[in-house]
Amino acid sequence: MGMNQFLKNVMLRVNTIDCRGSVCDGPGIRSLVFLQGCRKKCSKCHNSQTWDENGGIRMNVNDIFQEIDRNTPLKRITISGGEPLLQLDGLQSLIDILHERHYDIALYTGYDIKEVPKSILCKLDYIKYGCYKEDLHTTLEYYGSTNQKFISLK
Ligand code: SF4
Repeated sequence: MGMNQFLKNVMLRVNTIDCRGSVCDGPGIRSLVFLQGCRKKCSKCHNSQTWDENGGIRMNVNDIFQEIDRNTPLKRITISGGEPLLQLDGLQSLIDILHERHYDIALYTGYDIKEVPKSILCKLDYIKYGCYKEDLHTTLEYYGSTNQKFISLK
């Protein structure tokens, strides 16, 4: 089975793919993928429409990659949610293909960095980790609250 055929069989629940070009979700102009589902229920979460694990739309990883790739000439992507790590198999496959095609990849997660599998971590350029905490809200670039960490893994 070829790579594309394999990726057609791996599914992810997606809230939104936004390739308009964001400048506030990591360095440079980036496309965004918001994966569906989160159990953390942070107060004042900006993305509560992504909480329902049965919401969003089911897409195969090949289609997700093709949509990103058609619309992301600068090859920078931020994967957010929701909680991307709830869909580990699909997330791994998406990161694998993006990494293989030389994308600059940022991952936003509410988990601690120690909970992110090495097989994912080794393919990331940036990671933002830690839950959003309303009482620690900040306008600092790329951050939601000051307890979070945004680091380069390059
Ligand atoms: S982890 Fe993120 S998506 Fe989940 S509830 Fe908290 S702020 Fe919202």
